[in-house]
Amino acid sequence: MSWSVILADPVRALMELIEPFKLGVLTGVVLGYLGVLALLGAILPGRTIAGALLADKTRLHYKCNGLPSLLVLIAGLGVGIKAGYISPTVIADHGGQMCTTTFMLCVVMSLWLLVRGYLSKSKSESLKPHVTGNLIEDWWFGVQLNPDFLGLDLKFFWIRVGMMGWLLINLSVAAKQYINQGSLSLSMTLFQTFCGIYVLDYFWHEEYMTSTWDIIAEKFGFMLIFGDVVFIPFTFSIQAWWLLSHSVAITPAAAVVNVLVFLCGFAVFREANKQKHMFKQDPKVLIWGEPAKVIGGRLLVSGFWGIARHCNYLGDILVAFSFSLMCGVSSPVPYFYPSYLFILLLWRERRDEAKCSTKYKEIWKEYCKAVPWRILPYIY
Ligand code: NDP
Repeated sequence: MSWSVILADPVRALMELIEPFKLGVLTGVVLGYLGVLALLGAILPGRTIAGALLADKTRLHYKCNGLPSLLVLIAGLGVGIKAGYISPTVIADHGGQMCTTTFMLCVVMSLWLLVRGYLSKSKSESLKPHVTGNLIEDWWFGVQLNPDFLGLDLKFFWIRVGMMGWLLINLSVAAKQYINQGSLSLSMTLFQTFCGIYVLDYFWHEEYMTSTWDIIAEKFGFMLIFGDVVFIPFTFSIQAWWLLSHSVAITPAAAVVNVLVFLCGFAVFREANKQKHMFKQDPKVLIWGEPAKVIGGRLLVSGFWGIARHCNYLGDILVAFSFSLMCGVSSPVPYFYPSYLFILLLWRERRDEAKCSTKYKEIWKEYCKAVPWRILPYIY
């Protein structure tokens, strides 16, 4: 369906998107996916990691079994496809409807969590209602820090749903290209490989998520609910959709450059996040073979954290560009993800800076003096 048709009559376009594949069936598929992931998360083994210390001096504990959950899910889908019960192109064939259904689910869930948050009598930092008095703001940002459902930490779980959803969408689109053309293009192969590594690595290091901004600082409202399971999977996969309908003749030299950009970005992203996480777990950890240098006993100045205050953002931005370079430069559409991430991380760096400055006061000033660069050394 074209954008002009959607913009001319959005309600009719919405009904057309939903009609052919039956809203009930799709809702069942999405809820089934959530149910399977919740079940796998509950029964499969995984390390239990203590989360950050909250304002009320409590900590949540996270069972990090995303990787086994993903592998069992993929294996199960593989068996279902082989047996002919599941079509490998089901998501690629019904992407618009899936996206719309998931979006509606997010709206319902955010309203439910808003009401539940307002009614909460809990005094704990995680569950007490952080009400601003502005209904829209409360709905958008959420009112509870860590709401749960039947013992499931919803915020941690939701990121898992989105990251796995992203991989499943990519794989389904790849399957469609393979069935249509009899092979995968070089561009599609590169995109699938990079994203596959990124998602597998995410789950391999899932415990690092427990010290990130989203988990420790952001409440769980529509912004995260929608962002995790609609925005991430459906827009981060735009390149795959685009490659399905556009053939790009990428030269071997361009492919090599593309791989190098990915590897550099990935190394910086992974190592910087790892260094901070290890430091939080054990301030005496060795960074690049030497004891971690610390300011005020709390801020790491070794490794990437001594080069720029947010080198991890630089790595992520490079990786994001590497996800798009194989699409060439004939259209800005495949560059949506890196452009969005660039803006998001510049904004987030400012918010994080303000948070850290308030929290660490003089120590933060000292850190800024020692490490003057925000993201990109000698430039920004
Ligand atoms: P960070 O992982 O950088 O976490 C920031 C926090 O780390 C600060 O609030 C502070 O928390 C602590 N901190 C900052 N500097 C230091 C230091 N020198 N020593 C010790 N602790 C420090 O930020 P995010 O959670 O935003 O990002 C995590 C990763 O996720 C990044 O790589 C980012 O690129 C990625 N990301 C990806 C997105 C995507 O859409 N692809 C979206 C958002 C993030 P404290 O108060 O606990 O010390």
